[in-house]
Amino acid sequence: MRARVLSGMRPTGALHLGHYHGALKNWVRLQAEYDSFFFVADWHALTTHYEERDVMERFVYDMVIDWIAAGLDPQQSTIFIQSRLPEHAELFTLLAMGTPLGWLERVPTYKDQMEKLKDRDLATYGFLGYPLLQAADILIYRAAFVPVGEDQASHVELTREVARRFNHLYGRPVDFAARVAASIAKLPKDDARYLEKQRKAFGETGAAEALAKGENLIAKAAREVAGWTADDTEWLLGHLRGSGRSILVEPQALHTEVTKLPGLDGTKMSKSYGNAIAMREEPAQVEAKLRKMPTDPQRVRRTDPGNPERCPVWQFHKVYSDDSTRDWVVKGCTTAGIGCLECKQPVIDAILRQQAPWRERAEPYLTDPKKVKAIVDEGTDRARSVAQNTMQDVRAAMGLRYR
Ligand code: ATP
Ligand code: MG
Repeated sequence: MRARVLSGMRPTGALHLGHYHGALKNWVRLQAEYDSFFFVADWHALTTHYEERDVMERFVYDMVIDWIAAGLDPQQSTIFIQSRLPEHAELFTLLAMGTPLGWLERVPTYKDQMEKLKDRDLATYGFLGYPLLQAADILIYRAAFVPVGEDQASHVELTREVARRFNHLYGRPVDFAARVAASIAKLPKDDARYLEKQRKAFGETGAAEALAKGENLIAKAAREVAGWTADDTEWLLGHLRGSGRSILVEPQALHTEVTKLPGLDGTKMSKSYGNAIAMREEPAQVEAKLRKMPTDPQRVRRTDPGNPERCPVWQFHKVYSDDSTRDWVVKGCTTAGIGCLECKQPVIDAILRQQAPWRERAEPYLTDPKKVKAIVDEGTDRARSVAQNTMQDVRAAMGLRYR
């Protein structure tokens, strides 16, 4: 079975080239290798855009079309919408009970974003809680890996802590002590004493050797003791390690190299900065935007030599041009051999060339929106069966089996 990867994106508007280079391109690579779950994080969009109910539906389906346009394959990837799976909210609520407030207040992006998005009122419970909702999104699918940029690494760390705490609190059944005692009673007296000694040593010093000795003894008992069961092994391993079962799985951050794409003004491309080119923007508009794009501010006249390092267009050449084009740019710019419009042309061509297949792949879904909905329906069904399975274990572990 392939390891599972999970990631989501907030539907807050048309995706731009930054989203493609920074996330989507990587997703497309991952789907070939992992059991990939990609979801539309519409509740997460509401943590900051909670007043924008009129646009949400359009953003949701437009985003899925952008994903497919970029090359996500619904046959390979499970594509779904968070809000269609109330199980996420249930797990979020249950995890919230035992999560210390300080864990959320300390997440670095919390204060950062509050500062950055000053025009919105983010002193809300939902905004504080969103990393925990994210933890629920990940843990409910028992994902092994979460692809993250550096700024999100702290969220995966929080998720790991939340899983660890949950397993610690609920990984043992209520009658754990009695079950352990019953399993120990099956061991020969000397072995029982030996196991206790190793458990104490491991608990006090964390010595790997003591743990290994204890595990060996349990393995031997499993082979030799009459009437030994798999449960006996599980309870005693939990007893030895001072843990219970792993009901929730601690995910790993999957660090991949991604390009941070600057926008038309040289700062990071972002919708909110008004410096973005949408993935499926009209060619004429793309061209117009790029032609208007500022260049080296110190190159005032055509005859002034320029410096690529001061020019936002150069940042695009770094992503979109090959070595020989870049050589041509550096030489032409620094000697005033080429004009700025001339320099922009290869970038314009490369971006339009990249966008053409996106528009083509999106076309059938734009003409027949039912096709997108069918993909999402299927993905949501697949996701639901995994989520429900986890929730059964979670409810049972928390003593919520009555219904
Ligand atoms: P925007 O920043 O345009 O308002 P957003 O805030 O809705 O979009 P983010 O959460 O910032 O979206 O980004 C979603 C994903 O896309 C993240 O993985 C982020 O790292 C990536 N991303 C966004 N903008 C860029 C960019 N300019 N370059 C590289 N990656 C980017
Ligand atoms: Mg952003």
